Amino acid sequence: MKAKTKNRIWLRPVVQLFFFVLIALIAVNHTLVEEGGGITFLSGASLHALCPFGGVVTIYQYATTGAFVQKIHESSFILMILGFILAVLFGPVFCGWVCPFGTIQEWTSKLGKKLFKRKFNRFVPRKVDVVLRYLRYGVLAWVLYMTAITGKLVFADVDPYFALFNFWTSEVAIAGLVVLGVTLVAALFVERPWCKYACPYGAVLGLTNLFRVFKIKRNEPTCIACNKCSNRCPMNIPVSQQKVVRDHQCISCLECTSEAVCPVPATVDFVVGGK
Ligand code: SF4
Ligand code: SF4
Repeated sequence: MKAKTKNRIWLRPVVQLFFFVLIALIAVNHTLVEEGGGITFLSGASLHALCPFGGVVTIYQYATTGAFVQKIHESSFILMILGFILAVLFGPVFCGWVCPFGTIQEWTSKLGKKLFKRKFNRFVPRKVDVVLRYLRYGVLAWVLYMTAITGKLVFADVDPYFALFNFWTSEVAIAGLVVLGVTLVAALFVERPWCKYACPYGAVLGLTNLFRVFKIKRNEPTCIACNKCSNRCPMNIPVSQQKVVRDHQCISCLECTSEAVCPVPATVDFVVGGK
């Protein structure tokens, strides 16, 4: 079975913009409500309550004590389950279509592409890049361990996503602002540097690429080896050399499956199955 994914190259930016504006409005409203203004019926919608990764970090605490980690709500748990079901079906669509921090890195990278042209996204030597891409599993292990032994949301202090939508409040730690600044500068040189090298939630969702239901499949007999799909991939996955993309870094952006990228129709598809 094929999913109708062609010509949706315009759709992803629209969806990304929608979620970016939505999260920004919720974050601003949360501050306004705390100061006595804003839209009160949305007051409970803090960034922590809307973060699916909050559900992941609280699993240990919930299993051992029946309580959530400080500042985490049931909503994070529900969003975590929803995100995981979507990822098992379609891959990490949360990363490619929803996450506002992935979106702002892509926006920053547009400037980097203008500045560095063909050199953009090719600054990190291949051998270093391959190793660095496993760093996010180290970050994940550190976050889970530290959260389990402290019972606190330790990641919030270094989380650039939290810093981005709270930089105007006193809740943000300096470390978070530093990580945010470093990431945005790095995004001028590398596409989605945080996603590739450091994001612990991307590390969790990325594992679903190994067994997801809908897969990115390249039809070898019709492929003309033009390499356009590989060049377009924001995560530098060599799509043109793979029959089925099972790379743990795929963010299911579906750019490679678009007819606006691959010149041969029905050559890269988003399909159920595939060996
Ligand atoms: S392989 Fe395709 S869907 Fe996956 S990240 Fe690359 S371009 Fe996006
Ligand atoms: S863009 Fe299409 S034709 Fe070109 S290498 Fe990729 S799959 Fe093959």
